[in-house]
Amino acid sequence: MCIRDRPSACYVIRMETPDQPLQLDGRALATRIRDDYAPRVAALRESGRRPRLVALRVGEDAATKAYLRGQQRGAEKWGIEYDIQTLPASTNERGIRKAIRALNADPEVTGIMLALPLPAGIGARALQREIDPHKDVEGVHPENLGGCLYGRYGLLPCTALAVMALLESSGIELQGKQAVVVGHSEIVGKPVALLLLAQDATTTVCHKFTGNLAEHTRTADVLVVAVGKAGLITADMVKPGAYVVDVGINAVTGDDGKHKIVGDTDYDGVAPVCAAITPVPGGVGPVTVAILMRNTVLATEGMPPLDDPGQLPLFTA
Ligand code: NAD
Repeated sequence: MCIRDRPSACYVIRMETPDQPLQLDGRALATRIRDDYAPRVAALRESGRRPRLVALRVGEDAATKAYLRGQQRGAEKWGIEYDIQTLPASTNERGIRKAIRALNADPEVTGIMLALPLPAGIGARALQREIDPHKDVEGVHPENLGGCLYGRYGLLPCTALAVMALLESSGIELQGKQAVVVGHSEIVGKPVALLLLAQDATTTVCHKFTGNLAEHTRTADVLVVAVGKAGLITADMVKPGAYVVDVGINAVTGDDGKHKIVGDTDYDGVAPVCAAITPVPGGVGPVTVAILMRNTVLATEGMPPLDDPGQLPLFTA
């Protein structure tokens, strides 16, 4: 494999066979983002303002633990202090609120993330609103979510920004392109759609009540899929030459009986049709962690106000 020869901020890997699509390599991009931000982390540490991210976990959910371990490894590579604060599963909303307020008030804590899912019966929204927006490195506070409307690249939802970073890395010019986002969650689909609109892509959002999904996806120059359903997008649903970003994470059992992680697209079928595609694993996931760390750096530096012109491109080189 070789790094594709493009003059801009492009950072994609071309696979050996020329007929193959560009593989948007999330691990390589995550490393690139980390390298770009390394001088800023060093400057913060030298100035005594150490980036410190605290993940607040309620209960002992195994998947959450594994997810946070991945973040912890990412933080170590970035030189960002990372702590997991665990509350008992019996903690009520008031107790979680109190813990968030304590983290808001702690000057040593520069980033806070509230791990989901929360115990049954406890809503996430009110608690996410409790996080100081200046420390909200997941971009889930309404004040930060509002940045999506402005097309601001401040403390936005990490996965949505990861999608934009991967598209940016592909070198595609989004203006005037037809973009289709499948999935309309508050944390992925909707923010991605707003950010694509902000780049002047003509954007359609599909979801589980969309009548004929294929009719929409076949129009897409840029197809972003964030559903959580393995094999949802097949080759016949993809326009030849499309750029495909697969956000989905699905645990399936392979033909060999082994468990594996796949996305929402039938990768082997779709890849030959499109111009570029993210693999799963190794696509959106690693970039999401990198953006979480990047957001922690921004939060430690002092989050730019919403009317700030923004942080484009996401990585500087
Ligand atoms: P969600 O459950 O909140 O939303 C799923 C969305 O898919 C909804 O908008 C729903 O309407 C839509 N949908 C469901 N069935 C559909 C169908 N048959 N056709 C079209 N749309 C359909 O999920 P989410 O939090 O947005 O996550 C989506 C996927 O992305 C999951 O697999 C999740 O694990 C993954 N994810 C990955 C990362 C990462 O870093 N790679 C981060 C967040 C989420």
